[in-house]
Amino acid sequence: IWVTLEGGDGSGKTTQATLLERWLAEQGRTVVRTREPGGSEVGVLIREIVLHHRGDIAPRAEALLYAADRAHHVATVVRPALARGEVVIQDRYLDSSVAYQGAGRVLDGGEIRDLSLWATEGALPDLTVLLDLDPSVARGRLDAADKPFDRLEAEKSAFHERVRAAFLALAAAEPERFLVLDASRPVDELAAAIRSRVADALE
Ligand code: C5P
Ligand code: MG
Repeated sequence: IWVTLEGGDGSGKTTQATLLERWLAEQGRTVVRTREPGGSEVGVLIREIVLHHRGDIAPRAEALLYAADRAHHVATVVRPALARGEVVIQDRYLDSSVAYQGAGRVLDGGEIRDLSLWATEGALPDLTVLLDLDPSVARGRLDAADKPFDRLEAEKSAFHERVRAAFLALAAAEPERFLVLDASRPVDELAAAIRSRVADALE
């Protein structure tokens, strides 16, 4: 099965992915842990551009770079792992593009989604965990962790508010695929909720 984690910067996706990976390994599952952007060698190069290029990138160019990363990642990492019967745990996928390149950059979310579906020949995860968090709380977490600013994390709060609203709208539109969690809850409670949904999906 294929599980993606979504949510704003500082919402705890990486922490939950690590806990889920550990639990699945204990269950004897082979897990492929991956992420976008940057889940393949080509993707690492694209990630460098989208996150560290100094200066603006035209919104449509940025959307295409994310789509290119995704196309290569799905074709060379995700699909092969799923074909081997492994569990894929992935930090961010197409919902991030609809939220960031769509709502964030004010492009059409439906077009961004269609672009991703074209890029991946329609690949959609079995489960998407949305870690929902107020961007100002997330900002405080990132500052406290003294994390370096990515290009996007430096965006204004209105940008992150649009991103959050877009994620929630996506989840509302596809309630079967999404598990929406309040990311301000304790880490172990969130992990337990995720494990329970994944366990159901594995049956
Ligand atoms: O999740 P991660 O921290 O690796 O993401 C790196 C940065 O890329 C974040 O600031 C995130 O907001 C941004 N991003 C984006 N559009 C995506 C995926 C990530 O703007 N589709
Ligand atoms: Mg980050």
